[in-house]
Amino acid sequence: MSAAIKGPRITGIRTFLMQAGPLGVSGWAADVRNSITTGTRNWLFVKVETEDGITGIGEGSGWPRVVEAAVRDLSSVVIGQDAFAIELMTQRMQVAMMGHGMSGVVGQGAIGAIDMALWDIKGKALGVPVWQLLGGRLRDRIRAYAHASTPDQARAAVAKGFRALKTGGVKNPVEKATAIREAVGDDIDIMIDAHGPPWLTAPDAIGICHALAPLAPLFVEEPLAPEDMEGYRRLRASTDVPLASGERHGGFQGIATLLHEGLVDVVQPDAGRCGGITGLRKIAIHAESRFATLAPHAGSLGPVAEYAALHVLAAVPNALILEKMDPDWDGRARCVTATPELRDGHLMIPEAPGLGIDIDEEFVALHPSIRNVGLPAGGWPEGTEAATLYAQPRHPRAPAFRGKR
Ligand SMILES: [Mg+2]
Repeated sequence: MSAAIKGPRITGIRTFLMQAGPLGVSGWAADVRNSITTGTRNWLFVKVETEDGITGIGEGSGWPRVVEAAVRDLSSVVIGQDAFAIELMTQRMQVAMMGHGMSGVVGQGAIGAIDMALWDIKGKALGVPVWQLLGGRLRDRIRAYAHASTPDQARAAVAKGFRALKTGGVKNPVEKATAIREAVGDDIDIMIDAHGPPWLTAPDAIGICHALAPLAPLFVEEPLAPEDMEGYRRLRASTDVPLASGERHGGFQGIATLLHEGLVDVVQPDAGRCGGITGLRKIAIHAESRFATLAPHAGSLGPVAEYAALHVLAAVPNALILEKMDPDWDGRARCVTATPELRDGHLMIPEAPGLGIDIDEEFVALHPSIRNVGLPAGGWPEGTEAATLYAQPRHPRAPAFRGKR
């Protein structure tokens, strides 16, 4: 049968889990001094093999150490099947997992990693970049934003060509953003990420957004915990500041409520846990129907998922911007065969067939996974915000959220 009708049969799936940087390094936080996430970042790559020798690469997040087990479990669903039947494989994997409960970040991370690899295989087999399969590209580059925790870091990013910066943190987002706005002026876009901790209430978020409004942010990100939909409804009704969220939701269905109800202006799917390229595309279309734009999350993700996001952003009309971990651990470039070119604050869209990236298996093997959950440096301080989620943190933290400027 011709390649136009049927693709090669899937013969195997291999997983590659790595510690993304030494334990003292974090790629997720611009300020790592007190970060609970320091040294916890793992990257999970997946290779799907086919009978004709073409392999596809994918990446799954959503708790990579756990997702690795889920990918292995799902292998039996896809091995022996047509590698071109991407939507069919996605549907079958969903059905196979139904007994495990609602679709979440682990399931969508595993499905997404395999999905990404199947798009890579199809692009390679047909000799076209993945964006060509998604309807063709609308742009050859996408604006990127860097991270800054201090005015000096902000000035350094601008000197490097970035015209958009994100700051934040769960302690003093208003203070940080104000200092950075003063340092870089009004021509640079600023985003503020509150990281949606569970102790932020709707009144806190409303106060933060009112305090940030004079800074004209491009968006305020995760002003509330991802589970607090009622809080998002109250917040949306109380502020005109552009709101962004979605990086911690699993899959298309997880993000749907934010879009259905118009609770966010910018949706931030994590390519590694939103169902892969298929999931990203569905979210982009849903967002377009709600006049929302797409700014995929990249913070905890590795370089393969970044490529997946670039292909989707090339092909959808409502692409806003892409998060760029810059600077990052130097292993980010060394564990893969290609890195996206950064030019004038934009990432160039890859043009090689498939995703245009592969992993260096030897380099990945030199960095085995050690830890994938957060531990505070120096242990758990009893009775503080580092040890409990809700009640105790409110008292000492409240002033930081009350729009102090
Ligand atoms: Mg974030």
